[in-house]
Amino acid sequence: MEQIRQLQEANEKLKQDMDLFAMPEALPQRPDYVPEAGSMQGTSAPKSTFSADVLGMEMPYLGEGETRVGFQHFDKVENERARAEAMRVEQAARVTGVTPRPPPKYEKTEWPLSIVFVSSEVTPWSKTGGLADVCGSLPRELVKRGHRVMVVSPYYQRGTKEDKYFEGAFDTCSNAQVGCFGAAHEVGFMHQIHDGVDFVFVKHDCYERPGGIYADAMGNAWADNQFRYTLLSHAACEAPLKIDFEGKGTYGDEVVFVANDWHAGLVPLVVASKYRQYWNTYHNARTITVIHNILHQGSEPATTFPNLGVPDDWYWSLEYQYPEHMRAHELDLGLVVNILKGAVATSDRVLTVSEGYAEEICTPLGGKGLEGILTERKHRLDGVVNGIDLDEWNPANDPHCEFPYDVSNLAGKLMNKRALQRELGFDVRDDVPLLGFIGRLDWQKGPDLIRDSIAEMMNEDVQLVMLGSGIGELEGFMQWAEATYNDKFRGWVGFNVPVAHRITAGCDILLMPSRFEPCGLNQLYAMRYGTLPIAHATGGLNDTITRHNPFALDDPEVAVAAAIASDEGPDGNREMADLGPGTGWLFDSMDTWSFMYCVSNACKLFRENPKMWRAMQIQAMSQDLSWYHAALKWEKIFEWSKIDPPHCEIQQEHHHHY
Ligand code: ADP
Repeated sequence: MEQIRQLQEANEKLKQDMDLFAMPEALPQRPDYVPEAGSMQGTSAPKSTFSADVLGMEMPYLGEGETRVGFQHFDKVENERARAEAMRVEQAARVTGVTPRPPPKYEKTEWPLSIVFVSSEVTPWSKTGGLADVCGSLPRELVKRGHRVMVVSPYYQRGTKEDKYFEGAFDTCSNAQVGCFGAAHEVGFMHQIHDGVDFVFVKHDCYERPGGIYADAMGNAWADNQFRYTLLSHAACEAPLKIDFEGKGTYGDEVVFVANDWHAGLVPLVVASKYRQYWNTYHNARTITVIHNILHQGSEPATTFPNLGVPDDWYWSLEYQYPEHMRAHELDLGLVVNILKGAVATSDRVLTVSEGYAEEICTPLGGKGLEGILTERKHRLDGVVNGIDLDEWNPANDPHCEFPYDVSNLAGKLMNKRALQRELGFDVRDDVPLLGFIGRLDWQKGPDLIRDSIAEMMNEDVQLVMLGSGIGELEGFMQWAEATYNDKFRGWVGFNVPVAHRITAGCDILLMPSRFEPCGLNQLYAMRYGTLPIAHATGGLNDTITRHNPFALDDPEVAVAAAIASDEGPDGNREMADLGPGTGWLFDSMDTWSFMYCVSNACKLFRENPKMWRAMQIQAMSQDLSWYHAALKWEKIFEWSKIDPPHCEIQQEHHHHY
């Protein structure tokens, strides 16, 4: 109906704009006409004098009741077509017959803990990727379970529109002195409560400057990042002791610290080496290092060690030597302080964002130099796949998309596809598979694989839209491809959340050819929106996408049963999960042949077997991708850490193996 209304409006406007075709008030008399015997209607008809009068040209007379004047005829045909189409869409949607799964029921935990997340970014205040999403969502889930949760992150003021999110934060008036970089630095703590979570923002001049979170506008990392995140880590250790939350008191010294990535990596180290060893506190605290991406380790020359505010006799934990081929020049010994290594060596447990990635980082290919120490600590290393924020990514209620839908009725998805095609200037066609890519343009995400396959892909009848920014060469490729394949390719350079939502909703297929992927969120968002992912079989992608099974029944009930069976991820009922039609395609090797094999197969299925496609969408959308299951697993990790004695106990003499 929406379509019809839009068409009518467009027609009205067109009519008004074009006086030439304005209808006369009263129609002139139709000439009397008797058809000749055996003549085809219309073809050999005498010319209407009226048409010639009004239009200034001669038009055939079409028969009883039909005067092809102005846009009247066009209106009818178009409107009828739109109405029929809208009905077809609605009817097609009705056959889904699947009810959306209800959200999980929350039960309170029997062992409430005080938990402190430390992170360099948190949604919506600051975000460059998945880390921010995790630190914005998971704490809320833990609060629902009855835990007391604080998130410590910098108070950024970067001259962007995100600055305003900080406006609601109030000064706790409990400044702390932080000892590092050869001086005592004063930091403030700003506080904001959201869904019961205490968001605490560390205030210091070094976080207030225009540019990116980690880099300036040109993409060069801030020269003082070591200082900025050393400060954050030390400040975070003070927060639970210092901040007296109104009416609720301090968090105290029995907390569980969750140190995310290298930026917070000094937390476990400082807790063990200073607070517990010398300052007689945090004896019952525990520390968990979470690795969201092992590529970034926070390594700086070993000579910077005294900056870090860590007692000298703990140098061993940070010491790291790069292999020869990674050194800058012949005199470079490759000696660094590696903060992530220090975190892995001293925290009570290590956690990463998928089971698959936990395995991969223990291998030379995936460990990026830390595989040795991670393998040593493997008995304390786990993986839990991230959940997603079901409110932010909800096709039934997405402010960025025009047409809401859920698994019970997929008409809205088709409407969103057409809207996206229109927005991008593509032909508005339902029968062409619309492919999307969203992500940082760097080698991790594998956009170069799309680049290398582009000629072959553009040979198919497809439309492809890429959204992302990053390496200039790859941005250049997107511009080149748009110019070369203008009817099939759109490249959108930039970071744009509304567009990301519309691509996720409007596309049929999401491409995720990541070389490695700790967890990956876009494939989860895509599946929730009934957009089927094609991804490299690595890390979290491998754990969360179920391969298409061409022998499966295309029955919605089977699809739903398979989705329920896969709730527990790789630990779940794989047999049942694999009986379903699947939720996407995985290619095992990072080459164009394997990639295009999946793309071609997926497009073929899209064109030739809509019923199976629909079943795959149902399986994808019926999965429980909420944080609930993930939060329960995180809770287990917290509990295990509390049950074990601390990894670094107070020692008079240090004999360490690392
Ligand atoms: P990573 O954290 O490695 O960048 P993830 O898949 O875990 O990758 O998370 C990426 C997040 O950033 C997703 O929420 C994704 O939608 C978002 N994102 C990435 N690039 C863009 C972009 N160009 N515009 C909008 N959102 C983006």
